[in-house]
Amino acid sequence: MALFIDLGNRTIGEILIGSIVDADLTQLMRCDPGYLLGIQIDALVPLIYHQSFAGFSQNLVNSLVNSLKNIIIKGVDQNYIFPPSSPDNVRGMLITAIGGACWQESPDLIRVVYDTTQAGGKNYYVLDNAGNKISFPNAIMLAHELSHAFHFVNGDTSSLPEVQAETDENSFRDQVGFPERNAATHDGGFGLPDAEDIPLCP
Ligand SMILES: [Zn+2]
Repeated sequence: MALFIDLGNRTIGEILIGSIVDADLTQLMRCDPGYLLGIQIDALVPLIYHQSFAGFSQNLVNSLVNSLKNIIIKGVDQNYIFPPSSPDNVRGMLITAIGGACWQESPDLIRVVYDTTQAGGKNYYVLDNAGNKISFPNAIMLAHELSHAFHFVNGDTSSLPEVQAETDENSFRDQVGFPERNAATHDGGFGLPDAEDIPLCP
């Protein structure tokens, strides 16, 4: 077990956000019944996974759960500001500027942070190959950030890490029949009134 949900200070708000992360992971893993929450240790809830569904996202999570490194996922709201412990490129930034981030904090610790609120309900978007704004729902954002985590774990982060993560993200988009983004651009933002979610698993 090496993948965790961080419940922060365990205030009611953070527990609720933790339950959104759990729901997002359930969608990411397409309701694989082998996905379970373990027993909480301090603020961390370990994820347990006995994989029974084959697929890009299930394989991704399975490799992270079985990793020797710790990967900690923290869901936040639209008011989150990246703390002093975060890397230079995001420190002090408001989460809505990027939606989510993943970084290696120490050799054995990787952090994932993402906005569970879709910018307070305004909805994030990215661009497709024609330059159109397309939806970037929570489970896809999480797949993108967990792709970065996967490559940190494997020590094979590309010299173009966003192209790498966006290519993986497109594998998940394909898996759920959702439009692909242009993997060559990191452009995006929030403000998409008619955003769609991925097809929900049973
Ligand atoms: Zn990224």
